[in-house]
Amino acid sequence: MSHPFLFTWQAQKGATGLEVTGGSGAWFETSDGARWLDMGSLSYQASLGHGNQRMIAALKAQAGDLALAAPWAVFPAKTEAAEALLSLAPPGFSRVFFTLGGAEANENALKIARMFTGRQKLVSRYRSYHGATMGALTLTGDYRRPPLEPGMFGVVHVLDGAEAIEQVLELEGEASVAAVFLESVPGANGVLIPEPDYWPRVRAACDAHGALLIADEVLTGFGRTGRCFGFEHFGAMPDMITVAKAVTGGYAPLGAVLIHDRIAAHFADNVLYAGLTGYAHPLGCAAAREAIAIYRDERLFDRARDLESALCKSLEGVLASSDGAATDVRVIGLLAGVDLELSPAGWDRLATGLTARRVFLHVSPRRKTAIFAPPLVVAEAELDAGISAFSEALAEAIRSA
Ligand code: PLP
Repeated sequence: MSHPFLFTWQAQKGATGLEVTGGSGAWFETSDGARWLDMGSLSYQASLGHGNQRMIAALKAQAGDLALAAPWAVFPAKTEAAEALLSLAPPGFSRVFFTLGGAEANENALKIARMFTGRQKLVSRYRSYHGATMGALTLTGDYRRPPLEPGMFGVVHVLDGAEAIEQVLELEGEASVAAVFLESVPGANGVLIPEPDYWPRVRAACDAHGALLIADEVLTGFGRTGRCFGFEHFGAMPDMITVAKAVTGGYAPLGAVLIHDRIAAHFADNVLYAGLTGYAHPLGCAAAREAIAIYRDERLFDRARDLESALCKSLEGVLASSDGAATDVRVIGLLAGVDLELSPAGWDRLATGLTARRVFLHVSPRRKTAIFAPPLVVAEAELDAGISAFSEALAEAIRSA
C-alpha cells in the first residue's frame, strides 16, 4: 500500500507502518485487531503507557479551556508545567525554555550556551544521538549524521572515554568551547552506562575550561533509569538539561531546556535570540503538567528502579541460554541494552519472530543491539512475558543462523 506521506528514516519503496488504533497500559492495538506488548515505549516516549485516561482527560480539559496561544502568552498550564519541571531539577535551576521536541531542545540549548559564553565550539560524543534538526544532527555522533554533512560549524566529536573530553577541551584552545553535550546514558546507541567517575571528570574538565555541561535527558528523563534524570546516578550536575519524549508521555509534542539560574540570569539584560511559533503550546504544557503529576502520584520513578532487578535477572537468563548470540547485557532502571551477534538471516528471523509474537522493541542489526524500554506502568508479569517472547524469537534466530 502506498501512503500520501513519507516515512521517517527509511527508503520509501515498500515501507510500511503499523496501523495503531489505540491501546491500554503496556499494550497497543492495531487495526487488524492484534494486541502488541510494547517493550520499547514506541519511540521511548510512552512511559505512561497507552490509553492513559488521566492524560486524555487533561488534554480534553485544556482543549476546552485554551488551545491557541502565542509564544509570548502567559497561562496557567505553561506556568505550572515550568514549575513542575523545575521542581524535578537540581537546586539552582530557575527557568524553562519550551520547545516542540528533543532536537529543538538541544538546538536551543546550544544557542543559549553560545550566547551565554560568547564561544562557538561544542563537544559531543561519537556514540550519541541528539536529534535530526541540523544543529542537533551535527552534535549527533552516530550513523545518522554523515549523510547530511556538512552540518553546523564548530562541533568537535570525541570518543567515549572521559580522558577524550579532558584532552579535547585542553587541545581546542583556551576559552573556545561553549558546551559539552552528553546523554547521561547514551540510549539508542546501546544503553552505555558510564563508569562512576565519568560525569565528575567531565564536570571538572568543563569547570577548568569554562565550558557548560548539558545533559541530554530526552530519552533517559522522567524515571527511565530509575531516577528522574539519568545524571542523578553519577554525582555531577549539568548546567542545562534537555527533555522531551516522556515529559508528556508522548500524549502531545513538547520539549524543554531546563536552565540553571547562573545562565538564565545572563538573559535579564541580554536578548534571548530564540523562539518558536509553537513554543509552549497549551496542549503540550497541559500534557507535561499532568504527566509529571502522574509520575509523582504513581511513584513511577521508584517503580522503574524497583523493576530493574527483575529486568536484569531475566535478561541475564537470556544471556546465559543464548549459545553466545547475546554477548552483553546492560540494565539501568527500565532501560536495557542487549548486544547480539547474529547472521543477516538471524536478524531477519529475530524481527519475524518478534512480529509473530506481537512484541515491540528496538532491534538494530546496524548497532547489533536490542533495546528494552517498556512503559513505566508495565506489570512484572508483562515484563517477563516480553522477555520470554524475545528469548524464544532469539532461539529461532540462532537456529536459522
Ligand atoms: N536526544 C536523544 C537522546 C534522543 O534519543 C532523541 C530522540 O530519539 C532526541 C534527542 C531527539 O528528540 P526528538 O525526536 O523529540 O526531536
